[in-house]
Amino acid sequence: MADRYAVIGNPVAHSKSPEIHARFAQQTGEPISYERLLAPLDGFDATVAAFMEAGGRGANVTVPFKLQAHALATELSVRAQAAGAVNTLRFTDGVIHGDNTDGVGLVTDIVQNAGVALHGKRLLLLGAGGAARGVLLPLLEQQPAELAIANRTVDRAELLVQEFSAPHGVLRATGYDALDGEYDIVINATSASLADALPPLEGRVFAAGAFAYDMMYSRDATPFMRFAAGHGAAVRDGLGMLVEQAAASFLVWRGVRPDTAPVHIALRALL
Ligand code: NDP
Repeated sequence: MADRYAVIGNPVAHSKSPEIHARFAQQTGEPISYERLLAPLDGFDATVAAFMEAGGRGANVTVPFKLQAHALATELSVRAQAAGAVNTLRFTDGVIHGDNTDGVGLVTDIVQNAGVALHGKRLLLLGAGGAARGVLLPLLEQQPAELAIANRTVDRAELLVQEFSAPHGVLRATGYDALDGEYDIVINATSASLADALPPLEGRVFAAGAFAYDMMYSRDATPFMRFAAGHGAAVRDGLGMLVEQAAASFLVWRGVRPDTAPVHIALRALL
């Protein structure tokens, strides 16, 4: 019988994770099934408990439960501790292991798939919410020359700077008004694209030959991607991050790393 996995969220009907993991299972021959589980907004812990009881081996966690998954886990990986959020649960003998693969998914998509090095570069991260926090440690591990976090609410960006350690002068918080430098890589980790909006950016933030990444993905370019392209940047959306974080979760569960390139292409066709 197949080992059971699931994505738990609310809403969850839109999640592409079942399509991704079905392809990984087919490709690797790993005997797994993967389903969507809609948890009531006040019933995340109970949903996880029932799934474990029914033989579930692990789960992905999506909006709005990543913080609750962090609280529920009885063991946390280093990257989950740094992210303060969990998107991957693994159940073994009553132990709930919590991990976070969002950040490694982003870095893999940028560095390996897009072929853009982060080492020694000037990075600008837009947003200071859950997605930004989740990717900070893996971004810093790439040893950028500079990593500026810009947020509407500057206090939230400043809190992140206090929490994460980096060599002197590398990590800093800023408001959009005070953004004065040019950046080689600009990553949109705000939720502005969900509302078809653009963070209040000036085009001069894009250095010559800049690369712009929107964590959001959709069939059409987002406002941020259109703006960045209009200022000469190469652009990429977050579909590759989604596929790569799924592959990293699959590795956590099964010890096997799937080939993501064909799955990325197949998912693009489904958008
Ligand atoms: P949060 O609600 O935690 O944070 C939202 C952030 O966006 C805050 O920093 C907020 O600023 C900022 N923001 C919202 N609207 C605007 C705007 N119009 N202009 C400027 N800033 C704005 O959301 P998350 O961090 O959880 O998610 C952010 C995005 O990341 C989502 O679009 C999500 O889909 C995407 N994501 C993609 C993943 C992938 O696999 N591709 C994985 C995880 C997330 P303020 O603090 O001032 O309110």
